[in-house]
Amino acid sequence: MTAVVEVKNPLLDAHTQLSRAVEVLGYSAGMYDMLATPRRELTVSVPLRRDDGTVELLVGHRVQHNLSRGPSKGGLRYSHDVTLDEVRALAMWMTWKCALVDVPYGGAKGGVRFDPRQYSRSEVERVTRRYTSEIMPMIGPSQDIPAPDIGTDEDIMAWMMDTYSVNRGHTVLGVVTGKPVALGGSLGRASATSRGVVYVALAAMRHQGLEPAASTAAVQGFGKVGRGAARFLEEAGVKVVAASDQYGAVHASQGLNIRALESHVDATGSVAGFTESEALDEPDDLLYLEIDLLIPAAVEGVITESNARRVRAAVVVEGANGPTSPGADDILTARGQLVVPDILANAGGVIVSYFEWVQANQAYWWAEAEVEKRLEERMVRAWERVRDHAVLHDIPLRLAATSLAVETVTTAHLARGLYP
Ligand code: NAD
Repeated sequence: MTAVVEVKNPLLDAHTQLSRAVEVLGYSAGMYDMLATPRRELTVSVPLRRDDGTVELLVGHRVQHNLSRGPSKGGLRYSHDVTLDEVRALAMWMTWKCALVDVPYGGAKGGVRFDPRQYSRSEVERVTRRYTSEIMPMIGPSQDIPAPDIGTDEDIMAWMMDTYSVNRGHTVLGVVTGKPVALGGSLGRASATSRGVVYVALAAMRHQGLEPAASTAAVQGFGKVGRGAARFLEEAGVKVVAASDQYGAVHASQGLNIRALESHVDATGSVAGFTESEALDEPDDLLYLEIDLLIPAAVEGVITESNARRVRAAVVVEGANGPTSPGADDILTARGQLVVPDILANAGGVIVSYFEWVQANQAYWWAEAEVEKRLEERMVRAWERVRDHAVLHDIPLRLAATSLAVETVTTAHLARGLYP
């Protein structure tokens, strides 16, 4: 018997989601093409001199999907499986996310195809500086503003900002967000995506009649988004019974001690081997646990038509971008499971990135409590708007969120008119 291999292409998922929204909105095929096509794409060679003196050639991309509402904004991903189509999909989702939470940006994304954990820190710095100089014509505080994503962090943002500034001849703090606080980063940025995920997760659980303090959760991915989400859920009284990363998954029916798990990950690099828990046979088994809340916070394409029927959580809140395929969405919705889409659930990161950019442009920094208050207000407002739209039109949250966002972008596009 030949095994069926599922080919994952997040761009196909992004196009399907867009075409569903365009159908609801009654837009033309021409408008769909405009909305589905990136405005600009750049593919660059990134030659890297390794520490042993050999030279390796890496490939990087930067895609600006839409610029109708302002400069474009989106993360930079370092991963061995980055593709141009993945970057295109992630850039499109950024456009919808920025429109949905009303920050004045279009969407962009970047990526370099390499696994930073296989390289020394100084090699990663050289990759970052060369990639930044190659994409320099496209980026800038009023053009396109990168931020951290999978495999990148605040040090990498500092190197990008420094490379850009040295080439411009003066310091330009607003060219990237997610920088260290010592270098114009915003207080509250590092935890913003996870906080936002948890604000929305708690609201979605209550909407489904679940009391968070009596609920259980599992978190897939224990990186910047996943570990913070697990910690804030625990603080809200939710019992986090399982967590995973690409190396393994751990489970404790009495609830994981998240602080202890974080210390274990800091010391070993993985959740695997955490003593106060038992290991699941396969990391993906976490998706199928009998729990109230599932937070996929790792990579795209993890819940598909082939495994959606095994997912038992009443509420799925997408910490990651694109974890659920449109076919899986349909299966979960038909079974009464609530999926809170990525463009709403993980928008906390871009909201506080926007605050960081505003602070950098004004050279005036806010207190952490102010950042968190404004983040919560925006997340709660966006959740209520999407929920009300979904209830009113009896449509899934993803379709409600995408159509609201697409309408906002299209209105701006039409108001600008076509040049020439
Ligand atoms: P990260 O690199 O900090 O962490 C990724 C985590 O996922 C790691 O623990 C990794 O081991 C794990 N992982 C990778 N493949 C896995 C698999 N197949 N199964 C289980 N775990 C796996 O990245 P991050 O910044 O936390 O991003 C995670 C997701 O959240 C991505 O989809 C990203 O685009 C999205 N996101 C991030 C931000 C942000 O502010 N960092 C904002 C919005 C959305």
